[in-house]
Amino acid sequence: MKNSIFKPMLVIPAALFFLQACSSKPKEYGKAELTFGTVCYVKIYTEKNGAEARNILDGLFSELNRLELIFSTNMQDSVLEKIHINAGKSAVDVPDELYGVLEKALFFAEKTGGAFNPAIGPLVKLWNIGTEDACLPPAEDLKEALNIVDYKNIELKDGTVFLRKKGMRLDLGGIAKGFAADYTKSFLLTCGIKKAVIDFGGNVLVMDTKPDGSLWKVGLKNPVIGEPKSAAAYIDVSGKTVVTSGNYERFFEKEGVIYHHILSAQTGYPVKNNLRAVTVIGENSMEADALSTSFFVMGLEKSLQLIKDFPEVSAVFFLEDNSIFTAGAEVKNLNILDDKFRLERF
Ligand code: FAD
Ligand code: MG
Repeated sequence: MKNSIFKPMLVIPAALFFLQACSSKPKEYGKAELTFGTVCYVKIYTEKNGAEARNILDGLFSELNRLELIFSTNMQDSVLEKIHINAGKSAVDVPDELYGVLEKALFFAEKTGGAFNPAIGPLVKLWNIGTEDACLPPAEDLKEALNIVDYKNIELKDGTVFLRKKGMRLDLGGIAKGFAADYTKSFLLTCGIKKAVIDFGGNVLVMDTKPDGSLWKVGLKNPVIGEPKSAAAYIDVSGKTVVTSGNYERFFEKEGVIYHHILSAQTGYPVKNNLRAVTVIGENSMEADALSTSFFVMGLEKSLQLIKDFPEVSAVFFLEDNSIFTAGAEVKNLNILDDKFRLERF
């Protein structure tokens, strides 16, 4: 008799605990700020309470602001500006984050034969594309700038950076947002957050699956200039980064010609090939960022050769004639939403 009374007492608390665990579904918390010259948006999914979640997001964004002050070319007191002031004079001590990104940037510069060029700064400054001061620079200014855009004149040594020629300028706009996305992922993991969406204007990173266990659907924007920026296609992914480079967001038009922000260090002018956009899908956002810019500069054929050296990377190429080429396992199931686009197999 005694036993029959006590048994339920032992079972009920266990059952209650189980019910509570089932009912405490992860909640979504988000924060967006204008950083890195774009809207940076982070959504996290967690069972932590609201105050804890907000603390994590606030802590993260103050770290992102710290990184911006290192990598920015628009802030007078950034570390990058300090390097520029000392170009041709002396080496500058830099934070580990910048040293690491520059090492990677130089790796991609070598790998792409200079198509990806972290020393492109003087040209970026002349064109100013994406700002109110965007203009078509005089041809002689562009020619002169070509003398100071050789990435081989960037010297990295023992935590210092030296630009060998006066007037040289770094520009990490094609890689730093990817680094920031990877940094965000590590930061969130350290805080115990396993599921999140990180969206830094064209640089998306999803952590794990959705809270219900299904895959994230990441849209690829319609890259046709003048058309609504709805999704042209989407891919289903978990734990991946999806990074796009294109000519359709940062550009100006003069006398019927489109001038966009991805520049050739050979000619000094915006890259001209038959691409509208390239999306790269991979594990590492800094690598995907550098590769998406590289592929855009190199064009379809050379990119299809280079991607073989990155077996874990997939890519989607949007061409001007509305054909789409894909490479890699992750895009075998590319879903096209706009039937103006044709998927080409090769
Ligand atoms: P991506 O293809 O990834 O990169 C293109 C960018 O890379 C170009 O805009 C140029 O900066 C650079 N680039 C051009 N040609 C080459 C090449 N051949 N090789 C390598 N790189 C090349 N923009 C603002 O308008 N205002 C700001 O205040 C501002 N602050 C920023 C601060 C930081 C720290 C960073 C990293 C960027 C900032 N930007 C700012 C730049 C802006 O966010 C860029 O549009 C962005 O970095 C370009 O990224 P993307 O994904 O569009 O294109
Ligand atoms: Mg890039």
